[in-house]
Amino acid sequence: MANDNKLQNIIGHCKEYGFVFQSSEIYDGLSAVYDYGQLGVELKRNIRDYWWRSMTQMHDNIVGIDAAIFMHPTVWKASGHVDNFSDPMIDNKDSQKRYRVDHLIEGFAETLDKEKGDAMLQQMDQLLAANDFAGIKQLIEDNKISCAISGTCNWTDVRQFNLMFSTEIGSVAEEANVIYLRPETAQGIFVNFLNVQKTGRMKIPFGIAQTGKAFRNEIVARGFIFRMREFEQMEMQFFIKPGTQKEWYEYWKETRMKWHLSLGIGADKYRFHDHVKLAHYADAACDIEYDFPMGFKEVEGIHSRTDFDLKQHQQYSGKKLTYFDTDINQHYVPYVIETSIGLDRTVMMLLSEAYKEEDLSTADKQDNRVVLSFPPMLAPVKLAVLPLTKKDGLPEIARELIDQCKPYFKCFYEEKDSIGKRYRRQDAIGTPFCVTIDHQTKEDQTVTIRYRDSMTQERIALADVKALVMDKIKMF
Ligand code: ATP
Repeated sequence: MANDNKLQNIIGHCKEYGFVFQSSEIYDGLSAVYDYGQLGVELKRNIRDYWWRSMTQMHDNIVGIDAAIFMHPTVWKASGHVDNFSDPMIDNKDSQKRYRVDHLIEGFAETLDKEKGDAMLQQMDQLLAANDFAGIKQLIEDNKISCAISGTCNWTDVRQFNLMFSTEIGSVAEEANVIYLRPETAQGIFVNFLNVQKTGRMKIPFGIAQTGKAFRNEIVARGFIFRMREFEQMEMQFFIKPGTQKEWYEYWKETRMKWHLSLGIGADKYRFHDHVKLAHYADAACDIEYDFPMGFKEVEGIHSRTDFDLKQHQQYSGKKLTYFDTDINQHYVPYVIETSIGLDRTVMMLLSEAYKEEDLSTADKQDNRVVLSFPPMLAPVKLAVLPLTKKDGLPEIARELIDQCKPYFKCFYEEKDSIGKRYRRQDAIGTPFCVTIDHQTKEDQTVTIRYRDSMTQERIALADVKALVMDKIKMF
């Protein structure tokens, strides 16, 4: 399956089975905004839970918060977003189409042989790091990089565009203040640093975790739920003693990579990408990239943010944001290591990894299936219970089993169509376990359990089903 096709097939599959829909589809959609359907919402919630529990429950020095999306407008001045949160863009004068210059150049570099492409990307990184926009334009012109729509190289100068959405707060227009939809969740953590540290009696090193919506007016929004205008982040800010940032940065790189590998995804599908151009707040930064159908792309960023954010908020608010370290009897503004992962991108990563079209044909029969082989702990539905027929008391036994299991995990009941068809439908939504209730169940209290990935079946005691599934969906 070509990778382009794979992405299209995943998008089609997500729509067909209720994972992801285009927002406002009956009005022809809203670009780069998506809704999660009945199965997508379960998958997303399971990933969020796993991240949340990995961060907070499994680390006794990390606690969570849930800050509001709206924040005081000065927050974004202090954080640098009002002045710096922009991407260099270029417009094609003939088609009027606007491109992010890094995307335009990356797209072109992919068409070159590897050595030439890498050299071009390196040159681009250096020019961007130096904010040399004239040089970037020259690079585009020298290589005759053209617009995909007009086919011409008639470009404007490279300019910066701010990505924040703004709106107004206040009931009377004249009195209203401009506020922003947060472009990241991190600032809600920084402004609550002292609240949490004091009320939670937290000792450095400690972390604050948060999940929630973020908004960016992405100019070039593409790649399904990879790049959205409204998306969800899962962020953790880890507050440390100044001078220890290198070791904590390495610690979090390693810890986060372990988390990714715990999703059952092979190490060959991930790589680190160190940033050449560092954001205004960072002294080291890298991305964890996953090999999506469209190539290796960022899923998570790990940033050593120094004391930039707390110092800025201290300066703009006039409030002290220091910590008294009793070990050394000193006040200081803590340094911060951030781990920031996109929830929607993680959904897309898991879909890309799980989606398989399998040819099951034998010499005398053509057969195939689409299966989503999610890790059982993240699958939207854990167990399907299927009575062989609609009569003879089999549905009642099935319902009883579901009643027993549903307080613990998500179950699904179905009695329509042949068992084979029902198995295929469960494969297509990634249900790891199917249990069939048949006439033998009435005699000896056993059932057939069928495993999604191997498609093998075995007979087990009805009374053991719940414990078996619980064991296989354990997160830790
Ligand atoms: P990119 O370079 O892809 O624009 P970024 O470096 O700006 O991403 P960060 O600011 O580090 O991203 O945000 C942290 C994480 O949030 C990213 O790793 C990504 O998973 C997610 N993210 C950022 N922007 C978007 C978006 N527009 N849609 C979906 N997820 C996003």
